[in-house]
Amino acid sequence: MFKDYPLMKNNKGSVPLFYPHIPKNSAKSLSKVLKGRWIGQGPLVDKFESIFSKKFTKNLPCVAVGSGTDALHLAYLLAGIKKNDEVICPVFTCTATNIPLLYIGAKIKFADIDPKTFNISIEHVKKLVSKKTKAIVFVNYGGLPCDLTELNKIAKKYKVKLIQDAAQSLGNFYKNKPITQYSDFTIFSFQAIKHISSGDGGLLCFKDKKILKKAYRMRWFGIDRLKKQGGTWENDIKEIGYKYQMTDLGAAILLDALKEFNTIKQHRRKIFSIYEKNLKNNKKVKVINSLGKFTHSNWLFTILVDKKDFLQKKLRQSNIETNQVHFRNDRYSIFKKFVKNKKFPNMDSVEKKYLVLPVHTKMSFSDANYVVKKVNLFLKNA
Ligand SMILES: *Cc1c(COP(=O)(O)O)cnc(C)c1O
Repeated sequence: MFKDYPLMKNNKGSVPLFYPHIPKNSAKSLSKVLKGRWIGQGPLVDKFESIFSKKFTKNLPCVAVGSGTDALHLAYLLAGIKKNDEVICPVFTCTATNIPLLYIGAKIKFADIDPKTFNISIEHVKKLVSKKTKAIVFVNYGGLPCDLTELNKIAKKYKVKLIQDAAQSLGNFYKNKPITQYSDFTIFSFQAIKHISSGDGGLLCFKDKKILKKAYRMRWFGIDRLKKQGGTWENDIKEIGYKYQMTDLGAAILLDALKEFNTIKQHRRKIFSIYEKNLKNNKKVKVINSLGKFTHSNWLFTILVDKKDFLQKKLRQSNIETNQVHFRNDRYSIFKKFVKNKKFPNMDSVEKKYLVLPVHTKMSFSDANYVVKKVNLFLKNA
């Protein structure tokens, strides 16, 4: 039912939707790692966790893993979510948010979106939450935090765990505190097109310091790696872990990327502000996730337009790549058993109208101006 276009060729003068950010020093750092003993999980992973923890979480325990999906799966296990437990989840997100819950056998209760931000609808969460709810999972769509104050009130009242998918909102603050301070578990992704990337990678942080050792064990089959390396391991596995760890190759790139994070952020922010400024007066465009009063990580710039397909096609003819990026998860067959007779009116109202414009560090500001010029031009004739 969705008409999509193939990936655009990387022609000169074209503006692709995404482009990975590779730190200047990475080739050098990688070649150093390749000459050493640790290419898998080694000391650079520890170093990355420690710097990340200080920079983004106000010193919470951090566990680096192989992907954002790994981090989510590990978070769900550590939160104690079991088969048939009810979990409230966003209907609009990357499928990575919800798929690990299928492995666990949890009962997914999808919540509708807030049509102004595409974040989880607090009203709907309030209707869905009950004594049976084990956890609430939410995504800061595009880089704008959800209503963390309200979510915390609900969580406190019903004694449920909050799990924050912050894959799109690295470095974000909410009321002067890092967003990681507002949920039991927070996950990040370092997949190819995220703010910082190691091709694939992820990280889980949490507030309860007592579970750190268990998290380390679960990341590696259930084995205490340090004890094993010390040669005194008792040779038993008492809980089922998996193989979720990050490698030193990945950590080397991410350590370089952390040094460039402020530049990356500023570049993305500037593109966002060029888009906002130039689309503000266009009555045919509504900007979702606008900068507003909270800090924003500027990951996805999303607009609502009535003639979405028309605009997308015209932009493509001008070598500008756009996309919907995520689709409502209730449309996927794998979630079918959770959505029978369920209604998501806010999602319905935007389903055919949203489009994500290019934002990345390979784009120049004049590219951004070119994009908005074309958007305004094509919509004038639409
Ligand atoms: C990117 C992303 C993920 C998945 O992360 P991976 O590192 O690709 O596993 C999860 N949730 C959201 C919202 C994302 O954008």
